[in-house]
Amino acid sequence: MAVATKYLLNENQMPKFWYNLQADLPQPLPAVLHPGTMQPVGPDDLSPLFPMALIEQEVSTEREIEIPEPVRDIYRLWRPAPLYRAHRLEKALGTPARIYYKYEGVSPAGSHKPNTAIPQAFYNAEAGIRRLTTETGAGQWGTSLSFAGSLFDMEVLVFQVRVSYDQKPYRRAVMETYGARCLASPSDQTAYGRSVLAERPDHPGSLGIAISEAVELAVQREDTKYALGSVLNHVLLHQTVIGLEAMEQMQMADAWPDVVVGCTGGGSNFAGIAFPFIGHALRGGRKSRIVAVEPAACPSLTRGKYAYDFGDTAHMTPLTKMHTLGSTFTPPSLHAGGLRYHGMAPMVSHVMELGLMEAVAYSQVDCFAAGVAFARAEGIVPAPEANHAVKGAIEEALRCKREGRSETILFGLSGHGHFDMASYQKYFAGELRDEAYDEKELAMALAGLPSVPA
Ligand SMILES: *Cc1c(COP(=O)(O)O)cnc(C)c1O
Repeated sequence: MAVATKYLLNENQMPKFWYNLQADLPQPLPAVLHPGTMQPVGPDDLSPLFPMALIEQEVSTEREIEIPEPVRDIYRLWRPAPLYRAHRLEKALGTPARIYYKYEGVSPAGSHKPNTAIPQAFYNAEAGIRRLTTETGAGQWGTSLSFAGSLFDMEVLVFQVRVSYDQKPYRRAVMETYGARCLASPSDQTAYGRSVLAERPDHPGSLGIAISEAVELAVQREDTKYALGSVLNHVLLHQTVIGLEAMEQMQMADAWPDVVVGCTGGGSNFAGIAFPFIGHALRGGRKSRIVAVEPAACPSLTRGKYAYDFGDTAHMTPLTKMHTLGSTFTPPSLHAGGLRYHGMAPMVSHVMELGLMEAVAYSQVDCFAAGVAFARAEGIVPAPEANHAVKGAIEEALRCKREGRSETILFGLSGHGHFDMASYQKYFAGELRDEAYDEKELAMALAGLPSVPA
């Protein structure tokens, strides 16, 4: 009879440093460009949006960046997070593979996102900032920043994509419980929001529009800055606590992953679990295969172009080189809302270009089937985003079964699905569909990428 095995670190074993993969990259990241001049941006270009401490982390090539003690103190509310061996899932699949998963759903927000929301609020508070603006799609990031804001006594203003605002009232209630203010985007509070509403009063909103609104408000006031929940280097950096802890825990389990699997929206939880292992291999340590899993309906890594593009719809953000579907591309509606972004983190994109990782895409119905199988074996109901990582891990385990190999698989379970049960209901009712994206729209969005002089 398989027993549950949970690998727990004590709080003194929680990492004291975040790991910065930029220190070990064989080639540096391509420059970030100013959208007007097409010249590399400097710290001053970013300072209306972010405090200097985060801008420094964005460009740092130092390998270890100290986690400030007040941040570690808050991390202790739920960190170190547990690592589990999925004995029952292995048995259900009849695989000789050993499957481990690192569970981030134990955070107060139920996902990995507070790992960066806390330090972002901390560095802003240190710089005297009183108010943060942000966007949220599925609601997890808005929840996490609202939580972080409450701990540092900051005002948080969240632009929630209109469809999600209407469909997920409980998410909004959680944000308000933490004291944040939540607005449906497009809103009438910004010039950009008003221009979108003038053209289409019932606009369902998009992440790109919500980002544009949050940025517009942040640049207008001295006491206000903007916070982003994924994509940027400093966000990925903060998430490396996941992989650093997992490394320690794999050693406790007397194991080491042959394969590391994570789901990718903007790329932050994936980078969090994978980058410490990639760095370990780059420094001459044992090499693991690294696999990113993305939704087939929004496949930036497997179908996007590696090119300079904007991060938002109104084209206010700098240009970064990344795998992108084009900033004007609107992905079909997707229950894993956190994976519905046109671009991929520049760091993850760069690592992909360097051949240090692989990517696969699966449809959402297949991913829900995997999530249900996981829940019935291990008990945890994964977030729809995390179902993609579960699916990726199960496919690896089934490959091991076919090949008769007892490999070790580690995957990131980025959050629980307790606020997403409506999508599980749809799945059980057979109403969850795989919507294909519009090939013509993708071709047009890619043709419209900004041209950047070489
Ligand atoms: C937001 C979210 C994601 C996707 O974002 P990444 O930056 O790619 O990690 C994945 N899983 C969960 C649970 C999320 O909340």
